[in-house]
Amino acid sequence: NAEWALTTQLEMIARQFDEMEDPYLRERKADLEQVVERMLRVMRGVASPVVATPPGRNDTLFDATVDVPLVLVAHDLSPADMLQFKQSVFAGFVTDGGGKNSHTAIVARSMDIPAVVGARSASHLISQDDWVVIDGDAGVLIVDPSPILLAEYGFKQRQGEVERERLARLKHTPAVTLDGQKIELLANIEQPEDAVAALKAGAVGVGLFRTEFLFMGRNGKLPDEEEQFQAYKRAVEGMQGLPVTIRTVDVGADKPLDRTPVRSGEDHLNPALGLRAIRWSLADPAMFLAQLRAILRASAFGPINLLIPMLAHASEIRQTLALVNKARAQLDARTQLHGIVRLGAMIEVPAAALTIPLFLRHFDFLSIGTNDLIQYTLAIDRADEAVSHLYDPVHPAVLQLLASTIAQARAQGKGVSVCGEMAGDVGMTRLLLGLGLRSFSMHPSQILAVKQQILRCDTTKLATWAQTVLTAEDPAALMAD
Ligand code: PEP
Ligand code: MG
Repeated sequence: NAEWALTTQLEMIARQFDEMEDPYLRERKADLEQVVERMLRVMRGVASPVVATPPGRNDTLFDATVDVPLVLVAHDLSPADMLQFKQSVFAGFVTDGGGKNSHTAIVARSMDIPAVVGARSASHLISQDDWVVIDGDAGVLIVDPSPILLAEYGFKQRQGEVERERLARLKHTPAVTLDGQKIELLANIEQPEDAVAALKAGAVGVGLFRTEFLFMGRNGKLPDEEEQFQAYKRAVEGMQGLPVTIRTVDVGADKPLDRTPVRSGEDHLNPALGLRAIRWSLADPAMFLAQLRAILRASAFGPINLLIPMLAHASEIRQTLALVNKARAQLDARTQLHGIVRLGAMIEVPAAALTIPLFLRHFDFLSIGTNDLIQYTLAIDRADEAVSHLYDPVHPAVLQLLASTIAQARAQGKGVSVCGEMAGDVGMTRLLLGLGLRSFSMHPSQILAVKQQILRCDTTKLATWAQTVLTAEDPAALMAD
């Protein structure tokens, strides 16, 4: 019968997985087993209904006639998997691995999907049809919650909605501090269509368009110039005249192009220190030129800032600028329409943060990528759950680099913003304002909460306080002052 055929086939494929050298691929056997298990249940007619009532509950929140949101529990999910969540039926996810600043978590946050990552053996301990509560804000996962806990979380959920509605009223309020400082609140987006959410949240532009998501999950077939041009044009038009900062492709490390993050035979290497971001682009000039041409062409349809990730060397700056000029010349030769872009550099490697004058000589603006700046300054992999407790945005070394980058850019009258997760963390708003930051780029869902915080701040007072935090042995202890 079909069940027998399926089980036999599973055994055969499972043996092939067991023999795989790559540990990541070997572990994928569990995914296959889960799918087969589910199919067998369906075949036996005992599949769990999607519509269900949790134990002890029979009220409207969990009315048996209402579709219950499904949660995905997996060993690992890639950032490319995340994009599929947009079309999927899942309301949240849990993974065994990953850090809260990994790209998978960042994309989840940008899509407002409740998630808990780094839950170690959750995928083994949680069974099909278990009820779970995902408290993404607290990083808490509750399996088989009691009726009292369910009621509490139901209440929290409703409170969250009320808070969101309250914040929505701030959409048109200008982001100005008590002492009259105008603050620029920009959006981070992953896809052109995210421009809608950016405008809805009242963003005054896009501070970071992570273009690598156009390149992912395509089995190595990268988007050509035309496809990219159309995507960038859609983003620009979507922002209705507001500036869009397009970052050139940043693949590698925890943002592999396809599902397999480690190439066979290279699992002893550290991809975060490897061929990623601008290094990857400079290694393939034809690919990079195609992207540059696409961006330059889109700039004829609205204001674009061109942002380059992960620069560290003067030679990389020279090569990049030469390729931008070459892309322009190629378009001229084709007599193809293109506009003028402002050029920016991401400051996300300590080597860059320590040589800011070099960057200010060559670029119109800087954007500080704190996610990577923290990772590289503290030598901890942002996607590794085992060291996530060491990921410290207020480590004195990180703060020094942040403060001096902001101060030097401002002294020369050049734009500087933060586009890492720190910018959208309301717990960091006061400190960043105190360090002189006036431009923040974050996920649209965070903009209004940060704006609320800004409206309550006085930057003169914060500047004095920030200096004490900057020189403290334990800055975290002063953060609540
Ligand atoms: C960063 O490093 O802070 C950043 C914004 O870039 P990404 O998170 O895409 O590496
Ligand atoms: Mg980065």
